[in-house]
Amino acid sequence: MTEELIRKIESLDPKLHAFAWFDPAFAREQAKGLEKGGISKGPLWGIPVLVKDNICVEGVPTTCASKILKGFRPPYDATAVEKLKKAGAILLGMANMDEFAFGSSCEYSCYGPTRNPWDPTRVPGGSSGGSAAAVAAGLTALALGSDTGGSIRQPAAFCGVVGMKPTYGRVSRYGLIAFASSLDQIGPIARTVEEIALLLQGIAGFDPRDSTSGNLPVPDYQKELEKPVKGLRLGVPKEYFVDGLDPEVKKGIDAALAEFRRLGMSVTEVSLPHTEYAIPTYYVIATAEASSNLARFDGVQYGHRSSQGKSLLEMYTQTREEGFGPEAKRRIILGTFVLSSGYYEAYYGRALKVRTLIKKDFDRVFGSVDCLVTPTSPTPAFPLGEKMEDPLTMYLSDIHTISVNLAGVPALSVPCGFTQGGLPIGMQLIAKPFAEETLLKAAYAYQQATGWHKRQPPS
Ligand code: GLN
Repeated sequence: MTEELIRKIESLDPKLHAFAWFDPAFAREQAKGLEKGGISKGPLWGIPVLVKDNICVEGVPTTCASKILKGFRPPYDATAVEKLKKAGAILLGMANMDEFAFGSSCEYSCYGPTRNPWDPTRVPGGSSGGSAAAVAAGLTALALGSDTGGSIRQPAAFCGVVGMKPTYGRVSRYGLIAFASSLDQIGPIARTVEEIALLLQGIAGFDPRDSTSGNLPVPDYQKELEKPVKGLRLGVPKEYFVDGLDPEVKKGIDAALAEFRRLGMSVTEVSLPHTEYAIPTYYVIATAEASSNLARFDGVQYGHRSSQGKSLLEMYTQTREEGFGPEAKRRIILGTFVLSSGYYEAYYGRALKVRTLIKKDFDRVFGSVDCLVTPTSPTPAFPLGEKMEDPLTMYLSDIHTISVNLAGVPALSVPCGFTQGGLPIGMQLIAKPFAEETLLKAAYAYQQATGWHKRQPPS
């Protein structure tokens, strides 16, 4: 399988550009090691997994698609990667992404954009665009992404694959290069819900090296998948069906709701009244945390160091000037501003309070429903370049995914149809904290009944 994928990657990836780093020898060596029986037969034995370029793999260039981390090879594995290795997975390479996971299109990468396998003139979504595009194009079986405001779910929707953001604390963040530490989660991307369950099983669980990791037992997801869905209570938040929602996306979700009813689930309308504040709240909190997290990239310990600059301060500023791309700079400036003295209470402090209100909306609806159903993104994949001139329109494409991170709850995107032009449409399911199994069984039942996952992009 590894040889077959190497051949496919070498022939298709020069156009798709889903990989940030690929060395056939690296994958081949692992496969040979497994054949020799180097590792006991774990649950992911011999299965190729692509890793997003912000998740540390020991000795392998891990750069967050940023010039500032050029040449950085982590001295250790992220916990998720360590677990995959123990389970017998083969790490294929590193996936392209938006620089430091800032973006929704995979265009802000120092390596250049990834293309959507369904239509190469369109974006694959972001920031885990390389991971989702590679899975869709069959260049890997499974992939890891990270999701701070939608970065697993939105590219999964745009590429017609399944992606899950687990509950905050379900998967260790140790070794995930931090964007916004209170929002970031590592999660699985795959073609089917069963594969999502398999990969989630491989990476979930308590880790003392991540102080926010949840110390809770991990269910057997493969077993949970098959459990009956009859009687499951679904809620449809009315705030997610407003102006700007593409009519074809709406049609896809409506048809899915009818399917859920046929499968014996109930569907009721619910309200998440603070939804309209999610984007401004997120862009205060996420940039504040990002500006703080990115302070460590100063040319001293990691990656790029400018040869310009006569003093230490000049070396710092020159390194950051040369190393960060435009979106990273924008976020550092915004985040520094909202945290600065005199503005802290008005912006950051207030955003934290609104975040609590958004979280309470979810606590309340999960008193009466088991799972929420929404579009993953208001539109299907948009053309490359369309939103590059205006960062605000790019930010608005996360309108349906961001609240989930603010509330810390788990959510999954599953394909629910295609537009007339042949672009995939994604549906988002949201559950209460640590109820990933609810998402999996609802999505699995839906997938079995509809079969959208069987369609493949033209190669
Ligand atoms: N698109 C959002 C942003 O730009 C979310 C990114 C993410 O989840 N990493 O911040």
